[in-house]
Amino acid sequence: MKKYISILLILIIGLACVACKKKDNINEISKNLSNYEISLDLNTETKSSTAILNLDYINKTNDALSELKFHLYPQFFKEDATKLVVSSTKLNDAYPNGMSYAEFEVDRVKIENKDVNVQYSGNYNDILVVKLFNNLMLNNRVNISIEFNFTLPNCEHRFGYGDNTINLANFYPIVCVYENGEFDESEYNPNGDPFYSDMANYEVKVNLDNNKFVVAGTGEKTDVKKVDGKYQTSFKANLVRDFALVISDKFNVISKKTNNINVEYYYFSDENANKSLQAGVDAIKTFSNLFGEYPYSSFSIVKTDFIYGGMEYPNLIMVSADIDNIDDYMNVIIHETAHQWWYAMVGNDEYTYPWLDEALTEYSCLLFYDNNKGYNLTHSQMINASKSNYTLFVTVYQDVLGNLDTSMRAVNEYATEPEYTYCIYVKGVLMFESLYQLIGEKNFISGLKTYFNENKYTNANPNDLITAFEKECGNELDNFFDSWIEGKVIIR
Ligand SMILES: [Zn+2]
Repeated sequence: MKKYISILLILIIGLACVACKKKDNINEISKNLSNYEISLDLNTETKSSTAILNLDYINKTNDALSELKFHLYPQFFKEDATKLVVSSTKLNDAYPNGMSYAEFEVDRVKIENKDVNVQYSGNYNDILVVKLFNNLMLNNRVNISIEFNFTLPNCEHRFGYGDNTINLANFYPIVCVYENGEFDESEYNPNGDPFYSDMANYEVKVNLDNNKFVVAGTGEKTDVKKVDGKYQTSFKANLVRDFALVISDKFNVISKKTNNINVEYYYFSDENANKSLQAGVDAIKTFSNLFGEYPYSSFSIVKTDFIYGGMEYPNLIMVSADIDNIDDYMNVIIHETAHQWWYAMVGNDEYTYPWLDEALTEYSCLLFYDNNKGYNLTHSQMINASKSNYTLFVTVYQDVLGNLDTSMRAVNEYATEPEYTYCIYVKGVLMFESLYQLIGEKNFISGLKTYFNENKYTNANPNDLITAFEKECGNELDNFFDSWIEGKVIIR
């Protein structure tokens, strides 16, 4: 996600491109993954839907699994959820027409076509528990079918709708990541992108009651046709860690091909539409050169009713319609596109280590500007702005709080949104700038290439990134990262 501060707070570095390499074969790599088949019937008037998920799950853990657990993020958008989905200062922006709540219900669960009880865990019934008939061993598969229904809130967020778009993200049951002998049940959190998931394959069919609506989604749009009186749009996305949709009856669509990638821009008003599309194209090209090839055939930039600057999903980014400055709008496109490398391809636990996700993505924007001088932002401008904004934040907050904890911690450990934003995004950029100056541009870029190549299509942790940089520069960097992450570095 792009926490919107201002363009002047952004960062980073640049470097020379390396010749393009052969693209990874997505279909080959995705053969031994779980397969999600989702079918939705959305009523565009009531914003309600019935849905069915057919999951062909493969156990890739080394443990025998007696159960599967799924995140049910829509539970947090319901009226009885005591936790807000946005910070309290953002309520008016998120709910411009007053508070509005979702409905969400799991109606039926079947294992191998046999009904089982619907069971929940978590403080908000936000985890669906499916007890398996038999232990599932490594590389064995099981079929789980989940019927569910929901009504979207009038909320300009990931799961909700505004005047222009219906945002359908984090709407379906998704299997929790299994680590260290248990499923990760981290709750939704108003700060940050509180998500963590594994690579899988998706086939999604969206049935609408109205042919005026255009559907943007993760992956390739494989078909648009009329089926049983409904208007059906189908998507196929292999080797992705989530699936998102944005639906609107106001969308214009323009597109451009680059390196066999169809980059599309969905928007409902934009005087600079071609520039917006070009920013996405430039970002895909630049990051492919800097870090490693974007191997997918599609990428969608989608203007959306969304309270923050933007939000990343695999092959699809949301960009907020609230941004009225063109440079800021471009910056959000660049930031969310960088997330295709840091989050979508190299996955990470965004909940526990937001710096690994957001700080690296934000610094990647700085590298973009270094390599695209036409965007009129310089490295030193961005670093100087970051430094002065960060020191001002520390001064103000220390006056208010006395002792300010500037450590880079999990998303749920920040009391306020500004603390999260400044400690992760702004200070994070200064941390990577410091590393860049310490090990030099060549080692820095090589380190990111190594990190990408060694961790793509899986989930990385902080040590994977640190090790990648250490390999390039030959020095131990644990102490460097520890002092920044633990809040010991003083920035003046
Ligand atoms: Zn972000």
